[in-house]
Amino acid sequence: MTAPRLRFAPSPTGPLHLGGARTAMYNWALARALGGKFILRIEDTDQQRSTDESLQIILEGLQWLGIDWDEGPAVGGEPRGEHGPYFQMQRLDLYREVIDQLVASGHAYLCYCTPERLAELREEQKARKSSFIGYDGHCRDLTPEERAAREAEGLVPNIRFRMPEDRVVKVHDLIRGEVEVNTKQLDDWVMMRPGGVPLYNFACVVDDIGMGITHVVRGEEHFLNGVKQQLLFEALGKEPPQYAHIPLILNQKGGKLSKRDPGVKSVLEYRDLGYPPEAVFNYIALLGWGFSADRDVFTRDEMVDAFKIASVGKAGAKFDLEKLHWMCGEYVRQWSVEQCVERARAWLEPAMPAGTMAQHGAWLRNIVACYQERVQLLSEFPDKVGWLFAKDVRLEFDAGAEKKFNKHKEHAAEWLRGYADVLEASDLPPSWPEDRSAADGAVLLPSQKDAPATAAPCDDPAAIEAKTRAFTEERGIKFGHFVHPVRAALTGTDRGPGLFDVVFLLGKATAVARLRAVADSVAAD
Ligand code: GLU
Repeated sequence: MTAPRLRFAPSPTGPLHLGGARTAMYNWALARALGGKFILRIEDTDQQRSTDESLQIILEGLQWLGIDWDEGPAVGGEPRGEHGPYFQMQRLDLYREVIDQLVASGHAYLCYCTPERLAELREEQKARKSSFIGYDGHCRDLTPEERAAREAEGLVPNIRFRMPEDRVVKVHDLIRGEVEVNTKQLDDWVMMRPGGVPLYNFACVVDDIGMGITHVVRGEEHFLNGVKQQLLFEALGKEPPQYAHIPLILNQKGGKLSKRDPGVKSVLEYRDLGYPPEAVFNYIALLGWGFSADRDVFTRDEMVDAFKIASVGKAGAKFDLEKLHWMCGEYVRQWSVEQCVERARAWLEPAMPAGTMAQHGAWLRNIVACYQERVQLLSEFPDKVGWLFAKDVRLEFDAGAEKKFNKHKEHAAEWLRGYADVLEASDLPPSWPEDRSAADGAVLLPSQKDAPATAAPCDDPAAIEAKTRAFTEERGIKFGHFVHPVRAALTGTDRGPGLFDVVFLLGKATAVARLRAVADSVAAD
């Protein structure tokens, strides 16, 4: 048996979108599952629309998702593989050779129809509501004299494939099963334009042969191209690869997913918005394939072990932004706190005053640990932790904090002042940006559940809790009421980590100052 060889063949005419990434991934996974090779081929024959920028974006997108190729364009080194070049524009001689052979054998012919004639033909077919819209074979059987006359007029020919007429072609698709297509539906398609630049279906077949491709997985919009390609393989006396045409990705309404649908981004945009790449990878894998009935979260290796093309669904998969975000949260929570700090670092750094991050490593770890359960995207970090770094002592309240604060407004000044005195008399760690490494080094947050047994050199959240509860009991304040104005004063929001972690992270001076500032502002109302 020949070794399995699969390829992803993007046209560098735009960014890598979800559909392209999924096609790449399924080819990659099948190549890995079968122990074969995965090849990256760049179909850059549309010179008007192909750009180097798009190419770089596609390469970066694949790398970000961890889809690596065995053969293809160089990434910071020599191109890999012995079947290159892997850019179609560098393979023009090969196409020329094959086209000459096909013209000589009669499978291809020169067509001198002008763009004007072709446009008229199309209008006329549309006007009479013809079931067939396409080329009418006008130049199929030109005599040498007729050809010479056209050449003499200065007309330059396209080269078309001579489709077998009225033949039922049986296609075996790995996803759709056996399908029959009558060639009457398909016209004599253009293989090469004047100037020697090939068109997609032709170049694709020459390259699939040249690169020894055994399986082709691609979007179902290419299904009829597959029929054309199969006939060209036949004309060249070659065995076609096995085709698998995967269904479209759909939007929530069941229509074809478009980049205008909510939450639909290109792969690198997801990167730039702080989506973890493992989560995006995992989510894309599920757009048409399932790992198991009861598990949606799996690793790359698990996917490769389990992947079978026959288990890709026939129905289109719906893009579900909520599920993608849920998946992101699952991955964030899987990381150790240290891993999460590493991932969050680039997001947090701009939110912190310059140069402070390195000196406050342990504090940062505690901050990140408090939010690991609460974020899905890394980009949420700066906003979520903004209250910690706020310069204002009297924080603006968000709507939730305002509402909850107002419920207890009549007691707020008294409670906050009293509590500020309690904290002032406590052994809270110093406030950032003072050095609090001893405190943060000894206390692991979030700490209510698993505080270390060793004593911290300061009040840890458990000690803060004991002092807080003693205070509220002594004053007869319901704890469930007390937390609202206190949280509002300390963070400006009604959400976030446990209250004692909040107090611990803020440190003494800041916590006390914020409580008093709000108490003063209420008193002044
Ligand atoms: N360049 C084609 C595309 O991007 C490749 C299709 C194929 O895989 O054959 O759609």
